[in-house]
Amino acid sequence: MSSSVVNRKKKDCCGCNACMEICPRCCITMIADAKGFHYPKVDTTACVDCGACKKVCPFEEENIKLNIPLTAYAAWNKDREEYLASSSGGAAHVFSSYIIRQGGVVYGCTSEGMHIRHIRVDSLSNLFKLSSRSAPLLGLSPLRTVHESFPSHGSSNALLFLLKE
Ligand code: SF4
Ligand code: SF4
Repeated sequence: MSSSVVNRKKKDCCGCNACMEICPRCCITMIADAKGFHYPKVDTTACVDCGACKKVCPFEEENIKLNIPLTAYAAWNKDREEYLASSSGGAAHVFSSYIIRQGGVVYGCTSEGMHIRHIRVDSLSNLFKLSSRSAPLLGLSPLRTVHESFPSHGSSNALLFLLKE
């Protein structure tokens, strides 16, 4: 039996990209199906069966046990204008503004038609580009986006990563 996600069924995959990002051989490609949702395809000729992709997969039983939230918080933006401009409660804008004012940077999603892409934002004037829509991911994977610009995370090294829902 393979130690990779090569035989993963669609019902057991949310297309999170984690397996592709962790693969030391770069032999996982995310391929879109007919509805535009991306699933991993393993190049078995390059795979060394190290098991790293399965270890990070949130659908593995062991990882589901680890991911039970211990605490949950809820918040919303008290500034009515910022709240109305947001797709939900506007809390992300509050946190993002704080990080940028500290000289840090924020990573999050921006919409491109029916797709989204992860981008880096380091100015308050560009915060409007970040959205929280759920859609298939395009371009750079989130962790690679951060890694490729490291260590230039602004003067304070403060960093906020807004996860796609
Ligand atoms: S088992 Fe290792 S080499 Fe093979 S696809 Fe998974 S992470 Fe890549
Ligand atoms: S890590 Fe698991 S859930 Fe995420 S894309 Fe790979 S197989 Fe799918």
